[in-house]
Amino acid sequence: MMMNILVAGFQHETNTFAPTVASYDSFVRGEDFPGLVRGEGLFGLLNVNLPASGFINFVRGKGHAVTPVIWAGAGASAHVTTDAYERIAGEIVEAVKTASFDAIYLDLHGAMVAQHLDDGEGELLARIRAVVGPRMKIVISLDSHANVTTQMLSLADGLVAYRTYPHIDMADTGRRAGELLLALSGSDRPAHRVARRVPFLIPVNSMSTMMQPARGMYDLLEELEEPEREGVLSLSFAPGFPASDFAECGPVVWGYGFDAARIERAVDALFARICDPEHQWAVHFEEPDAAVLRAMRVAETATRPVILADTQDNPGVGGDSNTTGLLRALLRHGAQDAALGLICDPAAAAAAHEAGVGAWIDIGLGGCPQVEGDAPLRGAFQVEALSDGKFVYGGPMMNGKASDLGPMACLRIGGVRIAVSSAKAQLLDRNMYRTVGIAPEQMKILVNKSSVHFRADFAAIAEEILVVRSPGPFIADPSQLPWKNLASEMRTRPRDAA
Ligand SMILES: [Zn+2]
Repeated sequence: MMMNILVAGFQHETNTFAPTVASYDSFVRGEDFPGLVRGEGLFGLLNVNLPASGFINFVRGKGHAVTPVIWAGAGASAHVTTDAYERIAGEIVEAVKTASFDAIYLDLHGAMVAQHLDDGEGELLARIRAVVGPRMKIVISLDSHANVTTQMLSLADGLVAYRTYPHIDMADTGRRAGELLLALSGSDRPAHRVARRVPFLIPVNSMSTMMQPARGMYDLLEELEEPEREGVLSLSFAPGFPASDFAECGPVVWGYGFDAARIERAVDALFARICDPEHQWAVHFEEPDAAVLRAMRVAETATRPVILADTQDNPGVGGDSNTTGLLRALLRHGAQDAALGLICDPAAAAAAHEAGVGAWIDIGLGGCPQVEGDAPLRGAFQVEALSDGKFVYGGPMMNGKASDLGPMACLRIGGVRIAVSSAKAQLLDRNMYRTVGIAPEQMKILVNKSSVHFRADFAAIAEEILVVRSPGPFIADPSQLPWKNLASEMRTRPRDAA
C-alpha cells in the first residue's frame, strides 16, 4: 500500500544551565542548522546530511509520497521560549489537523526543554496523538543526545537514534526510521517495545564513537539487530544530554521487534554492556594551564598540531563561543603558532572590517558575562585577514552545507591567531579556519570550541587531543552541575572503579 507521510522537523538540545534562550528568531536563522523552512522548502534540504532528508529520500524511493510541513532547528542553548515552542509546535499540530495523510514522521532532537514545559517532544507527541488517535503510525528520529522520556516512548510507534558522535549518520538515521515505519506498517502483528533507563549520567566527551567504550556499544548494537529475521527490528542507545535539568534526563537503551523474547534479550545485553563497568565512561579533563604547557612541550617535536577541545564553551552544547580562558592561558605561557576558533564577537569583527587588513585595533575581545571570572580580553590585535563569513563545510559531518557566519576576521595577538565570527557555530570543520586565512594543519596548537564533533574533521591531522576544562557555560562533568529536578535515583557521574 502506498502511503502519504506527513513530515515535520523541530530540533533543539536544551542546556537548562546555559546563558542564552532559543527564541523564534533562533529557529528562523537555524544557527548550526539550516534556517527554518516550510512546505516544499524542505525539499531544498534533500542533499544536506539531516534525518528528514534521509527519510524523505528513502520513502520516496520506495514509492511513497510525503507532505512536508516545516523543518526548524536552533543551536543548543538554554530553554526554548514559550513563544517559539507554541508557534512551531502549533504549526505542526495545525497541519496534522488539516492535511490528509497515512502516517507521520518527525525529525526531533529529543532534549528540548521549553520555558513552560520540561518534555518538549513528549508534549508535541501528546498534542498530535490527541488529534490522530492511537492507531496512526508515528516514527521519530532522534539525536543520540536525546533524553528519551516515558511519554516519548509510549506515544511513538518507533524512536530511532543516531549511532555516531560526531553525528555523521544523521541522514542514515532518517532512512532507518523509514525502514522501521515500513516494517511496522507492513505487519498485522503488534511490535513489542523494550526500554531500560541507565542509572547514571555520562559526560558528553566520553560519548564519542571514534573511541571506546562508545564505539564498542554501537558495534554490539548492530550485531544484536536482526531485522531480516524480524526478531529485533530496531535497537537504539541514546547516551543523553547531561545538562537538561528535568526528571527524565539521562541515557536510555530501547528497541522494537515482533519477537518479545528476542527483543528483551537484545536490549538487556546492550544494557549490561553499557552499565558494567560504569567507570569505562569516566573522562580525564585537563586544566587550562597544564593543557597549554603540555601542548607546547609536545609541539616542540611534533609535525602535526596538538588540539585542545575547549569543551565548556562549545556552542553545540549551549556555550556562546566567546570565553577567553584558554586564550589567556596561551598568552600567559607565550605559545607560538597557535590558532583558536571561533570567538563570536560581532563588534570585534566589525572593528576589524572597519580598520582593514594589516591594521591594529585596540579592543576587548569576547568574554561571557554569565561565566564567573571571564571577561573580554583587552589588547592590541593585528587584523591579518577578513572574510564575509560565507563558506562551505568540507569535513565529513556537514559536508557541502553552505554557511554564513557574518563578517569574520583573523585577529593576531602574540603567537595566537583567532578566528572571530559574527554568528556562533561550533568549530567542527577545518574550513572555518581557512575562511579567515588560517591553515589549521600548519599550526602547532589549535584550540577548538567543540566537545567531540571536531574529531570528525580534525582527528586525522592531530598529534594529540586534550579535553580541557576552562570556565564556560557548559559544565562538562555533570556531577558538578547544580541539579534541582533530576530523578533522585540518578547518579550524576559513573561510579568509580573503587
Ligand atoms: Zn548531538
